[in-house]
Amino acid sequence: MQKNRTDLDTLHYVPQPIISHRSLCRTYERHGKRLKLYFVFVIIIGIIIIAYMPCLQKKIKGTLKMPFSLLIKPAGPDCNLNCKYCFYSIKDCLFGQGPHRMSNAILEKMTCDYLKLGLGVSSFAWQGGEPTLMGLDFYKKAVELQKQYGRDGQIVSNAFQTNGILLDDGWCKFLNEYKFLVGISLDGPKKYHDYYRLDHSGKGTFDKVMAAIEKCRKHEVEFNVLVLLNDKNVIDPDGLFDFFVSQNIKFLQFIPCVENDPKTGKITSFSITPEQCGNFIIRIFNLWKNYGPDKLSIRLFDSMMHYILKQKHTDCTFGWLCDDYIVMEHNGDAYCCDFFVEPEYKLGNIMETPIEKLLSSNVKKDFAERKKQLSNKCFVCRHSPICRGGCLKDRLVSNYNFSDSSYFCQSYKLIFDKILPELTWILSTRF
Ligand code: SF4
Ligand code: SF4
Repeated sequence: MQKNRTDLDTLHYVPQPIISHRSLCRTYERHGKRLKLYFVFVIIIGIIIIAYMPCLQKKIKGTLKMPFSLLIKPAGPDCNLNCKYCFYSIKDCLFGQGPHRMSNAILEKMTCDYLKLGLGVSSFAWQGGEPTLMGLDFYKKAVELQKQYGRDGQIVSNAFQTNGILLDDGWCKFLNEYKFLVGISLDGPKKYHDYYRLDHSGKGTFDKVMAAIEKCRKHEVEFNVLVLLNDKNVIDPDGLFDFFVSQNIKFLQFIPCVENDPKTGKITSFSITPEQCGNFIIRIFNLWKNYGPDKLSIRLFDSMMHYILKQKHTDCTFGWLCDDYIVMEHNGDAYCCDFFVEPEYKLGNIMETPIEKLLSSNVKKDFAERKKQLSNKCFVCRHSPICRGGCLKDRLVSNYNFSDSSYFCQSYKLIFDKILPELTWILSTRF
């Protein structure tokens, strides 16, 4: 928040005491011995403080300024598409029939609370459902509030995950002006994209999404493409890779799909098998390696390279704790994770509970720590440091047990065995 000027004006300054060199010498002669001891004492304390400084800083930062982003769902689960594999469309049962829309009061409280934490980077990630359903004026207001409550020099980032259908010149101008990083869902060439990504009348949406990508290019909006790997497109890594390269896509993210049918509990037909996932990623890796790693960024490989260099992933799937972000729903309810928007994982409501309290709640702490409950198989696995048992959601697929290994365990073993050594080599030679 802006510092109040009157506060600054009321500060008082006291003059420094002036000690002449002569009087200092006399004092030293008189109290020489005691001063020597005193200096030795001060030096020892100084050494101890310097030695423990990183630890102390870490602790202080850890408790007060743990970086995290806000994953905001301003229109709740509402969407203008009807994709068969969407896991969020069923959240109507939690929030009642729509339309669901975030009010200006909630937007303001959330923005004010978050920015006043003064994190190194404050990241707003707008998602859904479909966030464009809020209309452009809502985001103009959001940016206005960010300017109002942000301090001078504070770094704010906005990410925007959309199906692209409503993106027009007006949207793209705005997204470019405020440097939003846009994620557009596109499952590959038309025959794959239009298989599951249909509108409410059952029509394919490929052409509209491609038009949105053109608009982003025209207005120089930075965007990446999110590909949901399903039973249809996973069998054609070459076709997908060639398509994205031919479209000059520079940033790609593959999200492997596995969902249980809420009625039967069985794995859905559009899900992929662990073997399919592993084979797909390895084939994509080989294509990417030959194409030129510096010409195309693929999120999983970026995250693995980050791990090789800094022992930390950028993708929460392989993180040590599940505490990278909190979800803020349209009505101000906060949750631990996008995949756990359920009453059990509700942290509270931003209109009733300040964000610091939501963050320090026991529900949040317990959830974050669950990542550490590894299966015996993971404990003895050589990939454990880089895998950490994968995403909690994927551990629940077979038995609903957080201590199971991931559904994608077999994929991860294939991926890490094959890709990790080659990525290390690529890093040492090309970048
Ligand atoms: S590869 Fe499998 S066994 Fe190894 S840590 Fe990952 S999920 Fe666990
Ligand atoms: S449960 Fe999965 S998606 Fe959620 S924070 Fe943990 S790793 Fe990330």
